[in-house]
Amino acid sequence: MIYIVLTVLVLIVIFLLLHLAIIHRNLKEIILYVKSLLNENYSSRIIRKAKGNFAELIRILNELTEKMEKQKVNSGEKGDVLAILFEVMKEGVILTKKSGEIIQANKSIKEIFGENIVKAGKMIQELMVNKDFIDFVNKNPEEGKIDVIELHQPETGKYLLISRLFLEQYQLFIYLFSDITDTKNLARVKSEFITNLSHELRTPLTAIKGYLEVLDEGGLDGKDKKKFIKILRGNIERLVNIVSDLLILSDVERTERKLDVEKFDLNGVVDEIVMLFRKSAEEKGLQLVYTPAKIPLYSGDRFLIQQLLVNLVSNGIRFTEKGKVEIEIKYEGKKFLITVSDTGIGIPAEEIPKIFERFYTVDKARSRAQGGTGLGLSIVKHIVQLHQGEIKVESRLREGSRFTVILPDMSASSF
Ligand code: ADP
Repeated sequence: MIYIVLTVLVLIVIFLLLHLAIIHRNLKEIILYVKSLLNENYSSRIIRKAKGNFAELIRILNELTEKMEKQKVNSGEKGDVLAILFEVMKEGVILTKKSGEIIQANKSIKEIFGENIVKAGKMIQELMVNKDFIDFVNKNPEEGKIDVIELHQPETGKYLLISRLFLEQYQLFIYLFSDITDTKNLARVKSEFITNLSHELRTPLTAIKGYLEVLDEGGLDGKDKKKFIKILRGNIERLVNIVSDLLILSDVERTERKLDVEKFDLNGVVDEIVMLFRKSAEEKGLQLVYTPAKIPLYSGDRFLIQQLLVNLVSNGIRFTEKGKVEIEIKYEGKKFLITVSDTGIGIPAEEIPKIFERFYTVDKARSRAQGGTGLGLSIVKHIVQLHQGEIKVESRLREGSRFTVILPDMSASSF
């Protein structure tokens, strides 16, 4: 009996020891695993085979890790996306404490103010020496309200739109800086254009009104009547010229404008221009010189190239009193060169950069008297740009001017 009891007891002890060893191994592995979870390592799983409560515990732990891993990926992705967005945003962003101390700023803001000015630890008030800006920054925030201000930086010529939001929960400000200089300039150019246009139209319209009133009053003899009608016709012609030039200009100014490309001989176009202007050149006693050149066919918009030449040659004739206007065409290094030179009044050096602006004329009275609109060279500039070319001007006062249009040979590619 004693032997039997002892054997059973020994067996029970052995069984218990084995069981304890298994429990110990399982616990050790679980502790190691939980430690790895604390280090945010969610990629491993417990693969130990277990029974009963341990099996359940292992299953729950694996499931929990699975969830935590998914959460980490999601929040990580969101964080990454936000960080990328912060850096690539065109607008400048600054995060400050309530006191105005800068915590973080993105790349764009450094482009607006400079690397050294926007730094963590500096105060936002230091960014601009501008009373309106300081007042804006120091204004007490209202919860959920976005404050906005528009400022001009005279040192850089930039216009900035600044928005500010206070995050009550975090006691932080988010500032958003948008560079609106281009939009502002565009608005200015537009309003200047309208002012110039109104001015240009008002002069002939006022003249027409005045002369019509005199005609209406009657009492003019035949000779005066003829004179007045001639003046009226001249002013109406001027209005028609302005409107037609404006139509061409607004057409060629469209950035998305497609060219009506065809292959043609530039000599043919120049021939037509020479025919068109022969009479007016002769009337002024000017020579209109052109020798056809041996050049390949050009691929471009024939109508627009014709317009370009009309403007350059008519300028040449209008601004030359004696001598000649010469047209030359060359093909050099895969480029077509069209040169229109004259022996006319020339252009003062300081005026040359401005002559391509809309309505700009060196001598308004002279240009008007000769039927000029001040739009011709703007049209030329846009036609050249549409053909991906460039235009050069050389001029000497009282000696003459030389306009060279350089057009790349685009026959291989399409516009
Ligand atoms: P406009 O209708 O007045 O000719 P453009 O835009 O064609 O307008 O030219 C602008 C100005 O540039 C002219 O008013 C003139 O002052 C100057 N200009 C252009 N071409 C010549 C030239 N060949 N010789 C002298 N001045 C010129």
